Order: sequence, then C-alpha cells, then structure tokens
Amino acid sequence: MAQPISDYDPTDDGIRPGPDESVVPLTRRVVGAYLGLAVGDALGATTEFMTPSEIRHQYGVHDRIRGGGWLKLKPGAVTDDTEMSLALGDAIIAKCGVQADAVADAFSNWMRTKPVDIGNTVRRGIVRYRSSGVTEMPENEHDAGNGACMRSLPVAIAYWNASPEQRRVVSRLQSHVTHNNPQADAGTECLLEMLVAAFHGDSKARLRELADGLVAHDASYRFDVRRAENPSGWIVETLRTVFQAFFTNDCFESILTDVVNRGGDADTTGAIAGMLAGAHFGAGAIPAHWLKALDADVRRRCEDQALTLMQLDADIRPDS
Ligand code: MN
Ligand code: MN
Repeated sequence: MAQPISDYDPTDDGIRPGPDESVVPLTRRVVGAYLGLAVGDALGATTEFMTPSEIRHQYGVHDRIRGGGWLKLKPGAVTDDTEMSLALGDAIIAKCGVQADAVADAFSNWMRTKPVDIGNTVRRGIVRYRSSGVTEMPENEHDAGNGACMRSLPVAIAYWNASPEQRRVVSRLQSHVTHNNPQADAGTECLLEMLVAAFHGDSKARLRELADGLVAHDASYRFDVRRAENPSGWIVETLRTVFQAFFTNDCFESILTDVVNRGGDADTTGAIAGMLAGAHFGAGAIPAHWLKALDADVRRRCEDQALTLMQLDADIRPDS
C-alpha cells in the first residue's frame, strides 16, 4: 500500500552506502524513477547518434552531465523524453486518469512550445489530431518507434496499484495518439509491468522474468544474443539495449553509464534505463552529482509530479 508521503524528503539526495533495495519505500522508488528518467535523458542527449567508438574518442567514458550533443544542449537540459512524460503526467493529473483527448491536447500544446527535438511519428500524430480531432492513429506496421514507450512512466506511477489489464488499456490510449503498433504496444506494456513490479519492491530476478516474457511473446526482443550498440529508435533495439545494461550492471550509475556509452538513441535508452534503475534502487541511489547537474526546474517538476501521480491511485480505483 501507499507509504505516507512524509517519508520523502526532497532536500535529501545523499548517496546511501550500498542501497538495500528491498527496504526502499514506494515514494523513493516512484521519485527515483522520474528523476532517473530525467537524468538518463540529460546524460544520454550528449551521445545521441554517436557511435561507441566516437564516444570513446571524444570522452573516454561519458559519465558526466555536460550538455552538448547534436542538440547543443545546456548541461542539465532534457529533451522530448522527459518533456512528453511531464505533459502526459499533467494531463493524467488534470483528469484523474488517462483520457485520450486530454493527452492529445497536452502533446499538441507541448509541440507549440517548439521543443528542441521531436520524433517524426510523434509530430505526424499530433498534426493529424489537430486537423481531425481523432486521438487514435490507424495501426501502422512502420510505427514501432520508441516514442510512446519513452513517455509512459506517468502511466506506471498513476496506475501502480491497478491491474495489468487496466494499465494495458490506458497505455494504448496514450500510445495510440501517435504510435499504433502491436510490437510497440508489447514493449511499452512490458516496461510498465517491470516498473510497477519494481515499485512494489520485486527482485531483479522477477523483473528478468517479465522481460523474458516479452521475448517469449516476440522473439525479436531477444537481448542475450549479441552486444547491442547504436540502437535505433525502433523499440526493439531500444529495449534490447536497455535490458542488457540493466541486467548486467548492479548499480544505478553503472547501468546508466553503460547504456549511454552504447550511443545511438542514447537519450532514450538513458531515459528508459533511468526509469527502471530509479524504480528498482530508489532515488537515494542516483549519484548526487547527476542530480545536482540536472536542470533545477525539471528536477522539481519531476519530483512533484511523481508524488502527485502516485496519490491519484485512490481516484483511479474507486473500488480499492
Ligand atoms: Mn529525446
Ligand atoms: Mn532519443
């Protein structure tokens, strides 16, 4: 059940000596997931679209939030992964749940702010919504991008205590505004179940079972074959890369450092690995120097929204 909100202290970002993940309270996991998303996005944006050897040549090991990258970001700035999550989360809070038109309006308003980056599939979905009012794109075999998955954390938090079936329904509502593809749905829904399991304090072995379940459903997600590098925006490559980094490293910092040094869509693999690692280890496991480097306003919005979304639970499940 929900932990009292008072156990979360926003001024406390100290590193715990070897966090014992079994006793991390829910609030720290939920806030950790949101801060992990933003930290991973900010860290990975520097190496987005670079190859591992280009990264090695330029940085040795890229493990500092330093901005730059092809978007020429200020250190600590985030990209569409975090911004679309915040837009989705605000829409969920406003309606006490996922409503497709509120979500589509939130994405449309976000696009109006002229974001630094925006995916082609996302743009197309928003443009279509503006002209037609339709909140569900037609199913498209080419739309298996990671754009709906990368912004899906608010669904996991708001529906942390709902049923998998309920999460599946609302996940598709928000996803299909821009991406309507069964392979993308399956990957996104697996990530949601892994996040929720982590919120509940489940072991890494249990998270591995959930990832293996995705592979059993769709063998293209197999992530134990060869080392994933230069992942594209195809959700299959994104999640293969995230899973390799998550399951072969044992702390937040090493998971994130591993994944962003693989290049490719590094801000998005960073964002997704950051959510998972933050949910699993809790906010106290995020290195203080990364939290400090994160844009202060983004950090505050992520913390506030995580806690507000978590408390929506009662409204989303009137029977609970
Ligand atoms: Mn991005
Ligand atoms: Mn990206």
